[in-house]
Amino acid sequence: GPGDHRRDDRTSAQIKQEFENLCRDSKYTEMLSSRQRLPAFSAKDEFLTLLDKNRVVVVVGETGCGKTTQLPQFILDSLIMSNQGSTASIVVTQPRRLSAISVAARVSAERIEDGSVGYAIRGESKQGKNTKLLFCTTGVVLRRLGSGDTLDNVSHIVVDEVHERSVDGDFLLLELRELLKKTSNIEGCPHVRNDQSRNVYQLLWRCSSFNYSWLHTHPVTDIYLEDIIPLISYRPSAPRTSRKESGEVLQAFREEHKSKGLDDASISAIQIISRSDRLDFQLIAEVVRHIITDPKNKRGGVLIFLPGVPEIRQCMDAMRTALPGGQADVFPHPSGKSSPPLMSPETSITIDDVIYVVDAGKVKETQYDPDTSMSRLVETYVTRAAGRQRRGRAGRTQPGFCYKLYTRKTEANMGKYPVPEILRVPLESISLTVKVMREEEDVKLFLKRAIDPPKVAAMEAAWTVLEELGAVDLNGKLTPLGRHISTLPVDLRLAKMLVLGTIFQCLGPVLTIAACLSSKPLFLTPMDKRDEASQARARFATAGSDLLTDLNAYDACNKMRAEGKSHGAVRTFCEENFISPNTIRDITTLRNDFIGSLADLGFIPLHSTPSTAALNTNSDNTNLIKAVVLGGLWPRVARVHLPKSAIKFDRVSAGTVQRENIAKEFKMFDLREGRVFLHPQSILFEVAQWKSPFLVYFHKHMTSKVFLRDATEIPLYALLLFGGPVSVNHVAGGLTIGTKESWIRLRAWPRIGVLVNQLRRLLDAQL
Ligand code: ADP
Ligand code: MG
Repeated sequence: GPGDHRRDDRTSAQIKQEFENLCRDSKYTEMLSSRQRLPAFSAKDEFLTLLDKNRVVVVVGETGCGKTTQLPQFILDSLIMSNQGSTASIVVTQPRRLSAISVAARVSAERIEDGSVGYAIRGESKQGKNTKLLFCTTGVVLRRLGSGDTLDNVSHIVVDEVHERSVDGDFLLLELRELLKKTSNIEGCPHVRNDQSRNVYQLLWRCSSFNYSWLHTHPVTDIYLEDIIPLISYRPSAPRTSRKESGEVLQAFREEHKSKGLDDASISAIQIISRSDRLDFQLIAEVVRHIITDPKNKRGGVLIFLPGVPEIRQCMDAMRTALPGGQADVFPHPSGKSSPPLMSPETSITIDDVIYVVDAGKVKETQYDPDTSMSRLVETYVTRAAGRQRRGRAGRTQPGFCYKLYTRKTEANMGKYPVPEILRVPLESISLTVKVMREEEDVKLFLKRAIDPPKVAAMEAAWTVLEELGAVDLNGKLTPLGRHISTLPVDLRLAKMLVLGTIFQCLGPVLTIAACLSSKPLFLTPMDKRDEASQARARFATAGSDLLTDLNAYDACNKMRAEGKSHGAVRTFCEENFISPNTIRDITTLRNDFIGSLADLGFIPLHSTPSTAALNTNSDNTNLIKAVVLGGLWPRVARVHLPKSAIKFDRVSAGTVQRENIAKEFKMFDLREGRVFLHPQSILFEVAQWKSPFLVYFHKHMTSKVFLRDATEIPLYALLLFGGPVSVNHVAGGLTIGTKESWIRLRAWPRIGVLVNQLRRLLDAQL
């Protein structure tokens, strides 16, 4: 539990005494009086009574009512006051690292830093022997469960934000249910009032659960697109890309709005806006202008909900133009999933002063298609549940207004609740975690017990990936490699790459590559300066590899720092070369995270750094680095179909191709997809001399065609050594690489195949 290693040596009586002293502290009482204004306080007694009678309580309440910060304190205080302080140990999970830290800081401040509050996130924790309330990420608790901890020392566990339906959150609930089943009978007496809790929790727990709808908010007036347009007389300028609708639908739309007294111009405007696939920033700016210039309106904050950071930037630009003369101070709120962008007409305003909400109605969401194992980021309408949350922000302190940039009809067609993440993402990581935690169990059967069981195809695809990675063997048994990579906080392929990079002593560059692939693009490509940007990137081109090119650029920045160049000089260098300084910083952080995790695993000595000499004996060996990259990414391999005259690839041999020919005759075939295309920004278009007709890639995206990103040309020897099992084809006197796909055929002596297989067995033994 909290303070695991160091014991709280106080008795319950002493703890109670200290708490009573704290309660007399003037700072504490001051804090308390503001806490008492939160809606959660009015439900305190009811909550504690329910908790007393039930092992599981489900709490539902609007954002800001005090669930996260207050409920854990209610539990702790009541334990302390009933002389159970010495056994109190409350774990509160948070979906994100940042929220674990900031919530812990807030609660600690509310308790005047009395040492009872701590946090634990991967690689970082702050707790002492008196810690009773521990805020940690869901992942931390999952790993504790995974290492066999049955949470015997924990008196209460609070699982926060379960409605987000993240894979981790869903999985934690599943594990906790299993744990509870062992120790008590939680079946029976379902008692659920609220719809969503019925869906999610009753199915899962079949237990007594309760909800509060306890936020006393002020009324919020909804103003929909069809109400807004006549108010601001806005006419969208150019026709946009739009969805096709039949003449009848359009006609019906017109009739309906005409009957409500709307003029033709307004109806057209509404049609154009609501059929457009893109956000109309000018519209948003006009709405804000209307809000802050209409003399009938009250003064107060305007909170705008947008789908992402680029949209915030575009919206700010539009508002600066539309609101001249310092009418408004516009600033983006430090964003994150739960903290939306705040744009407010008064600088010193806090989020509590919001009276107006402008909801653009869109979110960005990664959608994954298990059938093609491809994901894409799409902008979709928010769910009605999320829309309600956004709207609720307007009525915190006084009656408010919500301007919805969509029609009533659109709202009626929005989904009710978000699609659970488990149905939207690849499942290899979660499958491996399940396997590690329940080695004897069938992972697919276990996942079928999830709140929303994933598709069978998705589970099978995930299992295949685990086999290909070597994380499980063909008998379904967990391998040592699988156990190792499950504990590294990164995509499983990159985790394997890190393990290989350690074994082959080229860790520095592999750390950078894995960090690059986990970050936003290193090179910026502004729309209006595409050519300049790609020329800049080409200056770093090396070794027929997008990854090694990025590595090259990162190293160049790093070298400048190491040589003591000024901050400004580095920044200028980045600007001139279209390198993102933010990504450079992210990569540096990630490299340190990764090396810390490898040290935790015991792979490398503690206190190693990315440049520790013993880890980098082979860091200059480009071919070896490429082999390690392939080892992680296999079987994401494509065969390049180069002109016959230019290359012979039926032998282990090299060929030369003219650049023009590549552009013309560059055909590629992927193991699974058939014809694929190299992303236009790939540095591989610069390669004049191909050493082999194979490349390995990280991302595959489907737009108009299937595009491969982050590609690396790979030497044939690397393919032999790291490219899946090798079978010897005696009849043809050749080798076949990979079990399921056989198009990688090399003519070679069967003896080489035998040798390669021996080497691979040695390697597997190492792993
Ligand atoms: P919930 O979890 O129900 O959404 P929280 O417990 O996170 O609500 O927050 C309750 C209230 O505490 C918020 O409405 C806010 O006013 C206040 N609060 C939370 N964090 C802070 C902070 N860091 N500083 C000041 N007030 C805060
Ligand atoms: Mg909360």
